Amino acid sequence: MDLEHWLREAARSNARWSAGFGPYEPHPSLAVDDDRFAEVFGEFTERLKDNYPFFHPRYAGQMLKPPHPAAVVGYVTAMLINPNNHALDGGPATALMEREVIQQLADLFGFTALGHLTTSGTVANLEALFVARELHPDRGIAFSSEAHYTHGRMCRVLGVEGHPVPVCDQGRMDLTALEELLRTGRVGTVVLTAGTTGLGAIDAMDQALSLRERYGVRIHVDAAYGGFFTLLAGAEGPAGLAAAPWRAIARCDSVVVDPHKHGLQPYGCGAVLFADPEVGRFYLHDSPYTYFTSDELHLGEISLECSRAGASAAALWLTFRLLPPTPEGLGRVLAAGRRAALRWAELIESSEAVELYQRPELDIVTCFPVTDPLCLSAVDAASERVMREGMAADDPVFLSTLRASASALTARRPEVAADADGARVLRSVLMKPEAEHQVERLHARLEELAGRR
Ligand SMILES: *Cc1c(COP(=O)(O)O)cnc(C)c1O
Repeated sequence: MDLEHWLREAARSNARWSAGFGPYEPHPSLAVDDDRFAEVFGEFTERLKDNYPFFHPRYAGQMLKPPHPAAVVGYVTAMLINPNNHALDGGPATALMEREVIQQLADLFGFTALGHLTTSGTVANLEALFVARELHPDRGIAFSSEAHYTHGRMCRVLGVEGHPVPVCDQGRMDLTALEELLRTGRVGTVVLTAGTTGLGAIDAMDQALSLRERYGVRIHVDAAYGGFFTLLAGAEGPAGLAAAPWRAIARCDSVVVDPHKHGLQPYGCGAVLFADPEVGRFYLHDSPYTYFTSDELHLGEISLECSRAGASAAALWLTFRLLPPTPEGLGRVLAAGRRAALRWAELIESSEAVELYQRPELDIVTCFPVTDPLCLSAVDAASERVMREGMAADDPVFLSTLRASASALTARRPEVAADADGARVLRSVLMKPEAEHQVERLHARLEELAGRR
């Protein structure tokens, strides 16, 4: 689709709609002269050049990429009206769109859910943990040591005890250690991560469910990053994922997914879903200045945040109409990234210059340069050097690093001497489908950089 054309259409459709309300005089206090704008805009675009090329396949670093053009046009078109999805009074159309996309997300996980969009995965998880605390006020929250760092932080915000649980191989929560902790009776909620931020590791949601009944705990699934990979659960071909953990999400108590990570959206779009609509009671509040035009449920009545961009719901709605969260829609985008990751892992495995840290669980590739001597301090320095030199090269490649503890690294690669408490390794998130056609190139650059000792 032609972005320029549709951005012009966005402005035009807004002008047509606005004209229906009759003419009025814009206030001179807001007037901006075009020449003056051009000057400042020039300075602005100049400053924006100080960025990494997240859009380009040569950017294989962090979890960053631009939104789909459909999301951009959806966002801008709605933003020209600027509805606030806090209340139906703030924007009935986008509130309805939000309900519809929430239903699509619920269907994705097999949830019959109460839910809403949030500004981020952090806030979405905070909401799930808030409800968890209301239900189990005297018990703590367990999450794996490789869960997102905000879980520990939100436990502090909520005034509940956070219990990090160690991980076993591949970075999944150690369920034996979890069960030991649950036996103490001090935990009311377990957070499982479906796709850790570092490695994309998938906690065993299916196996953990039996512990829920035995110990009377809630299970919250943080699928902020990995949620849309549900689309590959049980799929044919190399990109397919083992179905059981993903199918088990349907039986958990709450789930969080970030459309601004793998849902092609601009930042400002997370989502939380609860299996039991009754939890809406914890949000009960009255607001003297909102909620007038409808007795129907206002989204602000079931969310912790007040103002939220209706444009976020609009962007997601428009995107999902074109690239729905189905295996044939968004699933194809995710499958391409996953195939790219698997292919790169194969190339790394047959390379002399780099060593695989672990096989990709989703679309995240981790590896480290082979050093002489092969020890943590040398691996750390070499990873840092490859990342830095990669970015600065004439034919740049953008990678990121992940800090691995000495025990995590030597458990995977016992041949590495532990002369330090850990080492950075290289980490690439292949979240753009174009990565599939660039892996050979990326690998060739990686080998060149790693071989240059
Ligand atoms: C990104 C991420 C978060 C935090 O979400 P934000 O949208 O960045 O606030 C939480 N959990 C996991 C697993 C994530 O990958």
